[in-house]
Amino acid sequence: MKTSYKNCQSCGMPMKRDEKGGGTNADGNKNKMYCSHCYDNGKFTSPDMTVDQMKIRVKEKLKEFGFPGFLAGFFTKNIPNLERWKNK
Ligand SMILES: [Zn+2]
Repeated sequence: MKTSYKNCQSCGMPMKRDEKGGGTNADGNKNKMYCSHCYDNGKFTSPDMTVDQMKIRVKEKLKEFGFPGFLAGFFTKNIPNLERWKNK
């Protein structure tokens, strides 16, 4: 069974807000687990990123989009539970 995720399992962005509809695998197929910002051509765009760095990056992005701080905090709190970070 193919699972598709509602949110990118790396940064938490809603997949439907990804203008490319998801990352791409090495074979050119769409990756349904990670967005195009996090995953491209079969690999993570920032493979050495830690979960804390991701939290900061997402928080800054949300601020850029005009999200209030408390919402950004709520959003980033869930990042460690995403598939990419869960087993670390
Ligand atoms: Zn992402």
